[in-house]
Amino acid sequence: MTDAAISAPAATPAPAAVSATTVPVVQLTGVSKVFQPTSQGARPVEALKGIDLTVRRGEFVSLIGPSGCGKSTLLRAIGDLTSVTEGSVAVNGKPAAQARRDRDYGMVFQAPVLFEWRSVQENVELPLEIIGRPPHERAVRAREMLDLVELGEFMSHRPWQLSGGMQQRVAIARALALGPDILLMDEPFGALDEMTRERMNLELLRIWERTGTTVIFVTHSIPEAVFLSTRVVVMSARPGRITDVVDVDLPHSRDVETRELERYFELVTRVRESLRRGEGPSSGGTARVRAEGLSA
Ligand code: ADP
Ligand code: MG
Repeated sequence: MTDAAISAPAATPAPAAVSATTVPVVQLTGVSKVFQPTSQGARPVEALKGIDLTVRRGEFVSLIGPSGCGKSTLLRAIGDLTSVTEGSVAVNGKPAAQARRDRDYGMVFQAPVLFEWRSVQENVELPLEIIGRPPHERAVRAREMLDLVELGEFMSHRPWQLSGGMQQRVAIARALALGPDILLMDEPFGALDEMTRERMNLELLRIWERTGTTVIFVTHSIPEAVFLSTRVVVMSARPGRITDVVDVDLPHSRDVETRELERYFELVTRVRESLRRGEGPSSGGTARVRAEGLSA
């Protein structure tokens, strides 16, 4: 993150126009993660095993897999919110810890985590306040980001006066306030109803196209993953491994009609089958139930 990145208006490169660089935004090599037991008699949990993944600038990559397969752990490892047991995590060519210090990330979680006593504007200004930006600059940037998520009219509202979808848009605006290279999102729309979720999907794609930010997005919704992504990374349960990577060759810009395309249905089916295969033939019935437990 540079000063220029903060003060620059949301740029408008189409994803295809985002320049390819030789340094990947995220490079995971042989990443494994074992959680050590905290109570006696409990066993260690092997959450991730042998993860290799490269994410290039401007990509929109979704991580999908059954509950407990390590999606959040992987995202947290990329964001330096958890350490890895083996392997390396490089972000913009440096260790994840350095990338976090350089504020290369914006993060959005399932709950928007807004401060109720602050206005919408003050919530979005928070990261700028923390790094000591002057009030005028904070206000200009907050306005810009709130316009981007179409909440310009709600700057002086309190979070509790907004719907769940609007609150999540405030969280996205806040995550983008410092102009991060990478947006890490962990099931950000998981708590929203289906219609709001579809609207948020469209909105997120528009933001992604306008800002050129690389997005890594955790979901357990197959349609959501296919609709949003340039690539879908399929993971299997315990230990979490990558079992497939599906290139999503749907045209941009995507809109409501994308969901009607034959290719869209083919890709949804492809990811669903991949999830089932990832569960492995030996796990039989349970595997099927688990894979179908994912929204389809
Ligand atoms: P997902 O996001 O795919 O549902 P998680 O990454 O949250 O999965 O968890 C992967 C596995 O690691 C699960 O078995 C979970 O119980 C375990 N796990 C996650 N966080 C911790 C932790 N802090 N301590 C111990 N085990 C954990
Ligand atoms: Mg999770």
